[in-house]
Amino acid sequence: MSTTPHARTVGFQAGERNVFFHILTACNLACRHCYINPDQHGTATLSLETVLSWLKLFARPEQQTNLILLGGEPTMHRDLAAIIRAAKSLRYAVTVDSNGYLLHDLLDKVSPQELDYLSFSLDGPDPVINDPIRGEGVFNVCTQNLKKAVALGFNISLIYTVSGLNINHLHRMPPLLEELGVRRFFIQVIGLRGNPANTQPGGEVNWQVDPDQWLSVVPQVAADAARRGIHVTYPKVYLEPEEVFQCAGMVAENFFIFPNGRVYQCPLCEDHAIHSYEIKENRLLHREGLNEDRFFPLSIPEGCVMNKLLQPDNIGYAKDGSPLHRISCCLLKQEMLP
Ligand code: SF4
Ligand code: SF4
Repeated sequence: MSTTPHARTVGFQAGERNVFFHILTACNLACRHCYINPDQHGTATLSLETVLSWLKLFARPEQQTNLILLGGEPTMHRDLAAIIRAAKSLRYAVTVDSNGYLLHDLLDKVSPQELDYLSFSLDGPDPVINDPIRGEGVFNVCTQNLKKAVALGFNISLIYTVSGLNINHLHRMPPLLEELGVRRFFIQVIGLRGNPANTQPGGEVNWQVDPDQWLSVVPQVAADAARRGIHVTYPKVYLEPEEVFQCAGMVAENFFIFPNGRVYQCPLCEDHAIHSYEIKENRLLHREGLNEDRFFPLSIPEGCVMNKLLQPDNIGYAKDGSPLHRISCCLLKQEMLP
């Protein structure tokens, strides 16, 4: 008899630190929902020397920190293998988030022991769904490289960004992941940043998924994946009435670093120059003024303040004007274990 896996909310842990480091913004692909915004994030590729000195700014020798190396496409950086090794020696747990092209022969330059996770992105269970979003031929390249990485013994995770374009195909992912040998599955929700911010409802594409659709699809797919032995993580998004709202900016340490030196604590803010820190001459400086961190302590009935300000279309209201759901912090996750 099969039991239904139970979703657990992964509360913010005191002392947990996550560093999301965009070492460049260039990419070999042009996904339709790309959130990279060169006007806000710069176009630089950081030198190895700069990456290493910035890594030292966020390292805590006494405490493990999760480092997620991102781009653009991080494997476009010629020194990625050296960056991974340096980060490990600073006690980071290192993940590389790749679009699957694994440029500069990454698999030949690092060993599975040197990299905690190698993450691939697919937005559909086959080329028909994935490639119109991520580009012609991308599904095949990504899955071929993923198979190679599995065969070499790397820990592999896969990210699927749910939007109005692909939510109806999410249920076909768990069998594919099982077949590919992926043991960790991250379901993301589309954010209205970068390209999707320019195609709001009524525009060319309706990217956003409504609450009923999200709640009727995502937990069931996660349960199916968990039954197949896959560890699944997905955003909470809608809080139950009894659940407590918490802003990660107040209770956790998350840093989103861009090559132009901006450092955000909240990913929803990344299209705006309201970052709370900046790196100047290799020093991390707190910025004074009306920046993201001034908004974190505000309490509103809708939950997340930045969601209400920047993407309010996911909030529904009752006739009396009260919100139907509170929106959780976008960094709050649900987890289903095998
Ligand atoms: S792979 Fe990532 S960075 Fe590159 S275009 Fe797609 S979403 Fe943007
Ligand atoms: S998403 Fe909302 S709740 Fe989370 S850090 Fe940003 S402002 Fe705070």
